[in-house]
Amino acid sequence: MSISTLSIPRSATSTRTLTVLGSTGSIGKSTLKIVRQHPDRFRIIALTAQNNVHELAQQAKEFHAVLAVIADERKLPELKAALSGTSTRCLGGKEALIEAARMDAELVMAAIVGAAGLPPALHAVQRGATLALANKECLVCAGNVFLQEMKRHSSTLIPVDSEHNAIFQIFDFDAPERVENIIITASGGPFRNTARSELMDVTPEQAIKHPNWSMGAKISVDSATLMNKGLEVIEAYYLFPIAKDQIDVIVHPESIIHSMVRYVDGSVLAQMGTPDMCTPIAYALAYPERITTGSSHLDLTKVGNLSFHTLDEDVFPAIRMARAALASEGTSPATLNAANEVAVEAFLKHRIRFTDIVPLIQQVLDALPAQPVSSLDEVVEADTKAREKAQQLIRA
Ligand code: NAD
Ligand code: MG
Repeated sequence: MSISTLSIPRSATSTRTLTVLGSTGSIGKSTLKIVRQHPDRFRIIALTAQNNVHELAQQAKEFHAVLAVIADERKLPELKAALSGTSTRCLGGKEALIEAARMDAELVMAAIVGAAGLPPALHAVQRGATLALANKECLVCAGNVFLQEMKRHSSTLIPVDSEHNAIFQIFDFDAPERVENIIITASGGPFRNTARSELMDVTPEQAIKHPNWSMGAKISVDSATLMNKGLEVIEAYYLFPIAKDQIDVIVHPESIIHSMVRYVDGSVLAQMGTPDMCTPIAYALAYPERITTGSSHLDLTKVGNLSFHTLDEDVFPAIRMARAALASEGTSPATLNAANEVAVEAFLKHRIRFTDIVPLIQQVLDALPAQPVSSLDEVVEADTKAREKAQQLIRA
């Protein structure tokens, strides 16, 4: 099962209502940057953040949000104080995230990081909203459940992750049998040329410094371990009508080609652009139209050369591990994702080394073999078990 051809009826002049889940993050801020440039096209309904009251309050004021939600409930009084005298309603806690997702906005940008983004995104789907999906962990953890709910509630999904957005733009959904494979590009992260022996001493500060993209801390570490590409392979499987062995990954350090689709006749279509998330975000927000973003224009004469390499899975085994989790299906992708979230957080807090991340995830996967999944509760249970196991291994 996967998304298929989409048709979103919309006139060129209408204003779309929009909720941004995770508005204070990297994707959230870029989303609001696009909205700021097109005030007649979008009207903000709800904005949510984990604990950055200051930023959230500023955004709520600027965009006259109907609702502002702070997930860390202890910060609610601070948020209320910051928004007193405005018409914005303030709520706090995890349940309030769901309330934000359920508000009547035509479009929901799912930009919370991690499995925490799954429940509100699913609630948006269940009321038939169009979901601009940045949070890749949703599909990784609960791909089939998510897509079943989309079908049941006739909701629409537009991928925001740059690779999947690229493929979405060039994939022939009317004739998927004409597609031989999809080719996901990977920049290779900051340690593409770092010797294996040096990876042990990598610091969080070095790991979050991505060569081409500016992103949140968790996805930046995922890009450094290449787990991000592993998660993207799983994400692609659920998004497009292809088989697991039709998903290739190649290293493309310039991050100009965001991904490709190879057709049976030998044609390879690529989507290109400067590495700026504003482009896929704007595409998702305006679909099926295209709007300006203010991104710098791609000048291939300045780029000069585009290079491509085979990915060395011995140096970066995360992709192999993700493919194995996808092959097992059931709870394995959720286990992989949860273990990765715990490991990345522990690395960012200097509790484990960079080179401990991937082996730790493998240990969790070995300890918790795949179980079948048919409901969100089963996914949540697998996620909880994997977090506990990973924490236990870190403490040991
Ligand atoms: P980020 O860390 O910059 O922002 C995350 C947002 O989620 C913030 O608003 C934060 O307040 C909120 N948040 C964090 N934990 C939360 C929780 N437990 N409950 C509620 N809210 C919470 O992350 P980002 O880089 O913007 O990434 C967001 C998502 O988009 C991730 O799933 C990431 O994989 C995906 N993505 C990001 C990029 C990128 O360029 N940044 C590209 C592709 C995909
Ligand atoms: Mg990506």
